[in-house]
Amino acid sequence: MANKALVLELRQIVGRANVLDNMVNLQLYQYDAYLEEHRPDAVVFVHSTEEVAQVVQACNRHGLPFVPRGGGTNLSGGTIPFEGGVVIEMIHMNQLLEVDCSNLRARVQPGLFNLELGNALAPLGYQFLPDPASQKAATLGGNVAENSGGPHCFKYGVTTNHVLGLTVVLPDGQVVKLGGKAADPPGYDLTGLFVGSEGTFGICTEVVVKIVRLAEGVKTLLAIYDSIEAGSESVSAIVAAGMVPATLEMMDQLVIQAVEASLHCGLPLDCATVLLIEVDGLKDDLELQAKAIEDLCMAHGAREVRVAKDDAERALLWAGRRGAFGAVARLAPSFLVCDGTVPRTTLPQVLRKVAEVGRKYDLRIPNVFHAGDGNLHPLILFDWRDADQKARVLKAGMEILELCVAVGGTISGEHGVGLEKMEAMRLVLSEADLRSQRRVKQVFDPRNLANPGKIFPVPEEVLCAR
Ligand SMILES: Cc1cc2nc3c(=O)[nH]c(=O)nc-3n(C[C@H](O)[C@H](O)[C@H](O)COP(=O)(O)OP(=O)(O)OC[C@H]3O[C@@H](n4cnc5c(N)ncnc54)[C@H](O)[C@@H]3O)c2cc1C
Repeated sequence: MANKALVLELRQIVGRANVLDNMVNLQLYQYDAYLEEHRPDAVVFVHSTEEVAQVVQACNRHGLPFVPRGGGTNLSGGTIPFEGGVVIEMIHMNQLLEVDCSNLRARVQPGLFNLELGNALAPLGYQFLPDPASQKAATLGGNVAENSGGPHCFKYGVTTNHVLGLTVVLPDGQVVKLGGKAADPPGYDLTGLFVGSEGTFGICTEVVVKIVRLAEGVKTLLAIYDSIEAGSESVSAIVAAGMVPATLEMMDQLVIQAVEASLHCGLPLDCATVLLIEVDGLKDDLELQAKAIEDLCMAHGAREVRVAKDDAERALLWAGRRGAFGAVARLAPSFLVCDGTVPRTTLPQVLRKVAEVGRKYDLRIPNVFHAGDGNLHPLILFDWRDADQKARVLKAGMEILELCVAVGGTISGEHGVGLEKMEAMRLVLSEADLRSQRRVKQVFDPRNLANPGKIFPVPEEVLCAR
């Protein structure tokens, strides 16, 4: 438990009810959607930039680390207080502060859920494009810190392409503004540096995002295949033909069966894979785009291509895709979500090898992923109560990342590095590369208090000295 003096100070800053320090409450903050657990010393709910700054300053006075937390939906252990300290829960800072349609900007607090921003913008005819499948429970602050992607990021880019400015409490408690509403601010692109920093450079307390008009129309297609290869080849063919659909998502048979069992979306249970493809844009052009994609899918081995006939059918298909991770929980007590990226032309070969890894370690591995981006999410099923299975899962996960790197891909598409992939960083970065990145961390956080023990593996010289 945190020392009494710190708890007292925290209570003076945020009020008694906003500090948790008893064992049962702390246990609720010792895990996120990854596999490890570590208990914090205290949890603090904050309501303003000023409170965040004061809490961070208190942590500095006591030399204790702090870990920002939004919805806790990250899959890489980002919010696990690996070295103890104070979890700073941002979920009450959830206001939409400003919508500026004329300048295509919105200003939000970081605890706002991604979907709530979308719901507020839609009646005005606007949208925020990054749309992680977790958008009901993932906050904008978490999206920024993980540089999150989502189905629409194939066409429109990930979070970093939509964030223009940030208010940040630095690891020493100072408040700074990075970027802003205007395009192309002078000086270093510190906004870009902060996005994807996983809470290791401080805490963002306000975010300025780009918004865009809702598309005039959308059409959603479901292409059904009897082989994964044919589905993967269609993905490459669509892109090679110069088409950029808004989404290009893939689900394999095990995932389809789990989704159907829980959500009843009308997906065919007997196929090997489906592609969920959406085109958006001017209404006049949609039929043409959809027909061209349908023809390409049929030419590359689709058994059938269905077009959603109305909004209800479209919503059902998306409920299936967005609910896929949840539905897979029917198949096993636990699963590890791998997140690697590969050149999309290598999808068939990599998916075959992922299946081989499953056979080698005697583990089932369904797949649901952002195929257009080549961003794989093999879901390795297991039972967390079985230590042997857990060990095999971790080995299989690492082997899958090695496969991704071997074909020219990388170890993360959108879920961040966190605790999960620290060792895998060595697959893509040399010790010199890692040193230069660690130096940036030292500039922002010389005392190593902001979410320590994340992203970077322990340096080789330290390992050798142990
Ligand atoms: C079912 C499911 C589906 C998912 N689908 C996707 C997907 O399609 N695309 C995708 O990219 N991810 C996906 N994810 C992963 C996850 O939802 C995203 O990483 C999301 O952005 C995390 O948001 P959060 O609010 O839950 O952040 P948290 O999990 O609370 O935190 C994530 C990281 O951000 C840091 N952080 C949180 N708030 C702040 C802040 N204000 N300032 C600084 N750092 C902060 C934390 O310290 C941590 O390192 C999925 C997860 C689940 C469970």
